[in-house]
Amino acid sequence: MKAYIHLSEIATLEKAHLKDGRNLLPQDLSIQSDGAIVFDEDQIVWVGSTSDLPAKYQAVPKISLPGHILIPEIVDSHTHLVFGGDRSQEYADRLNGTPYEEIAKRGGGILFTMHKTQSASAELLFQSACERITRIHSYGVGTIEIKSGYGLSFEKEYEISLLIDRLKKHFSPQIQIFNTYLAAHDVPKGFSSSVDYLDQVVLPLLRKLAPLKVIDAVDVFHEKNYFSDDDVIRLFELAIELGIPVKIHADELNCNSGAELAVQFQALSADHLLKISDEEIHKLSHSSTIATLLPGTAFFLGKSLAPARRMLDSGVKVAIASDYNPGSCHCDNVLLIASISAAQLKMNQAEILCSITLNAAHSLGMMNQGTLMPGFKPRFSLFKVESLSQLTYSWGRNFAVNLP
Ligand SMILES: [Zn+2]
Repeated sequence: MKAYIHLSEIATLEKAHLKDGRNLLPQDLSIQSDGAIVFDEDQIVWVGSTSDLPAKYQAVPKISLPGHILIPEIVDSHTHLVFGGDRSQEYADRLNGTPYEEIAKRGGGILFTMHKTQSASAELLFQSACERITRIHSYGVGTIEIKSGYGLSFEKEYEISLLIDRLKKHFSPQIQIFNTYLAAHDVPKGFSSSVDYLDQVVLPLLRKLAPLKVIDAVDVFHEKNYFSDDDVIRLFELAIELGIPVKIHADELNCNSGAELAVQFQALSADHLLKISDEEIHKLSHSSTIATLLPGTAFFLGKSLAPARRMLDSGVKVAIASDYNPGSCHCDNVLLIASISAAQLKMNQAEILCSITLNAAHSLGMMNQGTLMPGFKPRFSLFKVESLSQLTYSWGRNFAVNLP
């Protein structure tokens, strides 16, 4: 057991937790000044003001941290960080006026990433993913969701799902990795239709991976010319039969009822939602499915942001993630993205902090973290700033420090 004492602030999110991360007001951050926290390896034992530390914990080894704040661990709940190649030249070409269609025609775009990922050795993919995870952790992020989905063949998707499991074991327990199966990311060349690809690759591979217990969730890119309602239903029915929760890339390019499918299948999250309808917002607000917004992608592509305020005011539970990937958002810092987005999405401080901690953890089914209360997992992020306000105010600066 050990204790941190004299923290300038601890944001426990106790009230936010009691409100299930919805309809949040600034006071729901439940900030404790001159805070102290006592914990062992498995759980938080006590939280409060340093001056109120009970006598029975006085003998516990104490670390004094004035000038620091402690918050529930930051979670990046949507990344595609296992990929080969680099698309910086493509981004430059796009800025210089080359249309995406032309870039795609000469072999750029997702096809480029697929090709580079398929031709990279497992070892090279593992090493590059390790570097990316270590960098993300340096920003104070302790839980990272990683999707497969650039292999797009039976063999390579199998290899990548096992590779993410290897990353999970490699970084545990310091960093928690969540392994999402996204073989249904795109329909690769050589298949006559999405149905053909599902039948030959996505469904049989899921059946093969399920008994290995490496997959934490199943995801799908639900969009016109990618995967249809029927494809999603077939995939989700199999996932649920195998006992694996589901997530969905929904309503990004068109409003096509992706969020509605998410609610129907009690998905952990529906992600993107740029084009979500009012009817879908209403359905989401009455469900446990979390709306995961990816504003970094909209920034990067120059698109309008998701209607966050409408969702929040309807009582939808909202998370924000980075969507870190080589094509549509090459930014790996979810705290930076959330800080920049706050004013754009018109989210208050509690809504922003919960979106990358409590609600982001819940969007991965991790209900035992995201709040600093006795009984919860001792997973937190530490920053060398005097107050929480300074953290989002000075966006782009990294104040994270390793836990002592
Ligand atoms: Zn994505």
